[in-house]
Amino acid sequence: MFQLSIKFRNFADHLSKKIFSMERTKYIFVTGGVTSSLGKGIISSSLAKLLQSRGFTVTIQKLDPYINIDPGTLNPYEHGECYVTEDGAETDLDLGHYERFSNTLTSQANNVTTGRIYQSVINKERKGEYLGSTVQVVPHITDEIKRCVKLLGHTGKYDFVITEIGGTVGDIESLPFVEAIRQLRWEMPQDSLVIHLTLVPYLSAAQELKTKPTQHSVKSLQEQGVQPDIIVCRCEKHLTTSIKSKIALFCNVEKTSVIECIDADSIYDVPVLMMNEGLDKEVLRKTNMPINTEVNLDNWMNFLQHLHNPAHEITVGLVGKYVELKDAYKSIREAFIHGGVANETKVHIKSIHSEYVTKENVSEMLANVDGVLVAPGFGNRGIEGKIIAAEYARTNNIPFMGICLGMQCAVVEFARNVLGYADAHSREMDSDTKHPVIDIMAEQKNIVNMGGTMRLGAYPCRLDESSKLYQAYGSTLISERHRHRYEFNNEYIEEFEKHGMKMVGINPDTNLVEAVELENHPWYIAAQYHPEYKSTVANPHPMFVGFVAAMLKYSGK
Ligand code: GLN
Repeated sequence: MFQLSIKFRNFADHLSKKIFSMERTKYIFVTGGVTSSLGKGIISSSLAKLLQSRGFTVTIQKLDPYINIDPGTLNPYEHGECYVTEDGAETDLDLGHYERFSNTLTSQANNVTTGRIYQSVINKERKGEYLGSTVQVVPHITDEIKRCVKLLGHTGKYDFVITEIGGTVGDIESLPFVEAIRQLRWEMPQDSLVIHLTLVPYLSAAQELKTKPTQHSVKSLQEQGVQPDIIVCRCEKHLTTSIKSKIALFCNVEKTSVIECIDADSIYDVPVLMMNEGLDKEVLRKTNMPINTEVNLDNWMNFLQHLHNPAHEITVGLVGKYVELKDAYKSIREAFIHGGVANETKVHIKSIHSEYVTKENVSEMLANVDGVLVAPGFGNRGIEGKIIAAEYARTNNIPFMGICLGMQCAVVEFARNVLGYADAHSREMDSDTKHPVIDIMAEQKNIVNMGGTMRLGAYPCRLDESSKLYQAYGSTLISERHRHRYEFNNEYIEEFEKHGMKMVGINPDTNLVEAVELENHPWYIAAQYHPEYKSTVANPHPMFVGFVAAMLKYSGK
């Protein structure tokens, strides 16, 4: 009898799990229509945040339809910043949003391009794995896409895998991805759904919101065999009930599945907008997941409260060669928001184009800033302006932060103007310099390929306990992400330290210099690593928090 009741209980458990399909990962696909740049990444991140705040585990993946293997070799003018994960993947900047919102790490598996899909299919073909069959887009390319999607689900770590498809429905290059979604929806009708993000424009002449572009883009999806389950409408005016009904009617979705996404002051407001519109509930309902969980956004709301009501305002000068492009320094801009909120401060970013900074105009260019950040980068263009900006911050006691190339500029500047080596440079910019204070590592010397060959991903770093950097982190052993080829030349360590530039962060395994700091300066810190990649809403990065605090002090606020 006892045995039987246990058996029954197990069966009942199994049944209820089956009913809620709890043991299976749910796959959510996010497509976009009408135009690009509607914010699929922010919608995906916001949904992840909401599901996570109900206790579910979520990961987000981006499928990019371009042929590059990864965005590592892409010029920032093309796709903005290249974001680097812990495992050293060079990825789309949307992965930065995923991490900043969800505070969960991503990896190479979270960003797959058409190039990577084809590369792996072609490799398999060369190995003879297709046993003589003709290799085709369907099923071989689509199978590989499906494998990449399920890979994250099969880790068993996630209740939800959200897969964002780059580009816009109807693009030639996204066809295989949409076809793969069609097949996956067919294979897993209970465990997957499609969210389509479109634009509902407001025509001021007609004083009307227009649904036709949404209807057309849904039609284009339907022509490819995919019926969206939820339609998220990006708009600048609120959708009326009749507009929602119209979209529902024409696009074959329930009225509750038409979700308004109105323009917001900050991307960080979007999870709250989506919660109010019930996006997370709709997703749970349609994937047969329990809705009896509560959204807990207390910490997020607290962040928003400080974000929208800052006690102070300061301005940082961002010196770089891509400053006119908002997306080129995305993670740095976001890290200033997080570091600002931690100090109850709004950080204004003054963009300073390094190509135009000269000795003569630097005081004018950097007038009224409370701190200077010299940005990462590659190549010679604008390099002298960055060096001049670093010198100006050093000699005028202005708080300074250098990131990657920014640190290398600070080092070159110090070598030229304090150590007196007029020709000092990085080997990247001047291969014949007599004083290569920044040099290429021996193991990098013979590399000819450009893609994926830098020092990439997370490396440990030991901090000097007497440094300001240590004060910022509050711990000796840190780990930060890298993306560069050149390094501080250790032959110069002693000379730099004797004259006041201290090597405060050292890689314990390789002795590479990871961070430097000036002794007689209120706050002048530069790092070979990229702190901006690890700043999230939940964990604002200590270096940015410390830098903002130093700028506040400098500004006398
Ligand atoms: N160009 C420099 C190097 O390769 C710095 C790179 C960067 O700033 N990310 O070392």
